[in-house]
Amino acid sequence: MKAAIFVEPGRIVLEEKPIPAVGPRDALLRVTTTTICGTDVHILKGEYPVARGLTVGHEPVGVIEEVGTAVTGYEVGQRVIAGAVTPCGQCHACLNGDHAQCGGKAMGGWRLGNTIDGCQADYVLIPNAMANLAAIPDALTDEEVLMCPDIMSTGFSGAERARIQIGDTVAVFAQGPIGLCATVGAKLSGATRIFTVDGIPERLTMSQELGADLVVDYREQDPVATIMKATDGRGVDVAIEALGTQSTFENCLRVLRPGGILSSLGVYSGKLTVPMDAFAAGLGDYTVVSTLCPGGKERMRRLMNVLESRRTDLRPLVTHTFALDEIERAYDLFANQRDGVLKIAIKPH
Ligand SMILES: [Zn+2]
Ligand SMILES: [Zn+2]
Repeated sequence: MKAAIFVEPGRIVLEEKPIPAVGPRDALLRVTTTTICGTDVHILKGEYPVARGLTVGHEPVGVIEEVGTAVTGYEVGQRVIAGAVTPCGQCHACLNGDHAQCGGKAMGGWRLGNTIDGCQADYVLIPNAMANLAAIPDALTDEEVLMCPDIMSTGFSGAERARIQIGDTVAVFAQGPIGLCATVGAKLSGATRIFTVDGIPERLTMSQELGADLVVDYREQDPVATIMKATDGRGVDVAIEALGTQSTFENCLRVLRPGGILSSLGVYSGKLTVPMDAFAAGLGDYTVVSTLCPGGKERMRRLMNVLESRRTDLRPLVTHTFALDEIERAYDLFANQRDGVLKIAIKPH
């Protein structure tokens, strides 16, 4: 089979690999659609280390090709997705509800394209299949569910973990695919005023279409001053960080009302510092929460239910389609953010 593998910083290439052997609790998927994540670009650039030769990709949509001897409840030929995070469902972390931290190690549940071969390939092995495979409703296409494994799950969790209340005012910093899904999640959670911040006009337009009430182009307006003015100096109840930089994290704190919740989704590198003036010297009753993409089949079922019930439509996020054979070109386009790209559908079959 063909698989996109990490060779060295700067190089992810398509190579031949054997189709993986199926263990008792695994399932083998024939990948019909997958996509490239911002995290894969960090891997490509060598900013997030993975083993040489690892197949990348953690957003699988496919058809069951083979199930392990201990797997029940699934059929060969069934259309399924699995989350980017594939919890075992059995360990102490999973049974505490911390599926993304499976095994009790930070990020332990993120296996695909991280610690085991991922899904930018003709086939992918899904571990602990019975905890992870979620059947795709007939009414939904591959493209419609493509955001579920990671982008929608992560973005929505930014809103969920912030415990948004009906009537809340929310700011979302950065409107890439995950930030856009956080905007949708905030709206579905009951936020009635949503401010979003980005510097790319197409993303701000998309943000408005998906539910933002006021969009701020940070190249033209100071986002903190604009949001504070729009809330009469009160600040927002919830600020969601969806980029992973010092300035977006800090701006979240600066627009948050005392007692508010900062929900962090970004992946940071280096050092993150908390300015004491924005943090009320530690006495502002702030809550800071961080989230890794929730996974497991029940999470996937719920997300697909949101789509099937037409509460939102995330298809506009898929701006480009490439065959698996063209994945190196797709990486180039995505990593350089050309041509208004948001998410790319990769089609192995
Ligand atoms: Zn991802
Ligand atoms: Zn576990």
